[in-house]
Amino acid sequence: MVLPRWVWDYIRTIMEGGTYAELRGWFRDPVAPRHSARPTVSEVSSPCPTKRDAYLRRVTKIPMEDTEVLRLGRLIHEVFLTPFRESIPFSQLDTKFESIINEYGDLGVRYRAQLYEVYIKAVTMALNAREEGIPISVEPAIPGAPIGLSDIVKPDILVGFIPVELVTSSLTEELTSRKDIAVTAYALAIEAWIGHPVDIGVVLHVSINGKPRLTWRVIKIDDTLRRAFLDMRDTVARIIEHGDDPGPASSCSRTCPFYGVCHG
Ligand code: SF4
Repeated sequence: MVLPRWVWDYIRTIMEGGTYAELRGWFRDPVAPRHSARPTVSEVSSPCPTKRDAYLRRVTKIPMEDTEVLRLGRLIHEVFLTPFRESIPFSQLDTKFESIINEYGDLGVRYRAQLYEVYIKAVTMALNAREEGIPISVEPAIPGAPIGLSDIVKPDILVGFIPVELVTSSLTEELTSRKDIAVTAYALAIEAWIGHPVDIGVVLHVSINGKPRLTWRVIKIDDTLRRAFLDMRDTVARIIEHGDDPGPASSCSRTCPFYGVCHG
């Protein structure tokens, strides 16, 4: 199965009390866009404290620097998601892994051993999920416009109607809260799309520092989170629509792709 047994058990336990949210994606009035600009999920849930990254990319059109951190994140996503995306014959498992690794040059070589462990874990989970008939979509295209987001939003994985977001950076409180916002955005988009309530999201943290580790976190998508997402969405949309520079934040991570622009 994709989600470990304890995650399913935990979800069942916290769902026993009934539904959690009043604010659903299908209620036009509270969730309809307030601005014509429609940000992406990653813009709304970006790590920038002032959301200046959205201003730089969308208003001043400064391209984002493709840093090693971003490339490594993409590589880990590719390694983990590929076995779920396609059914790879046993005889071609290693060839497939090597072809992914080779696309990333030195970076792939440096982390090959850890990534192989992640790959094998994903292969095992994908096989189990297929055997058990659990419906999984990888990066399904869900309409975002009804809730004021980009045309299409794509959770990493959808297990039934549960959006699962993969994260690869170090776990911090800040990362935790913005990933909560990202899965909330996907939940509201699904609700607006098909009218099915989505009260749970899952964040899977894949760490390859030292021995590779997968950490699962179940999120109750309650009204507080839903409102926080809508506020954040409106803040980012306003910045893009009016072209107002929110200015650099006082504490920025050196790994921000715009660090040189804001603090150069
Ligand atoms: S350097 Fe700071 S203010 Fe500038 S985009 Fe990055 S996080 Fe935002």
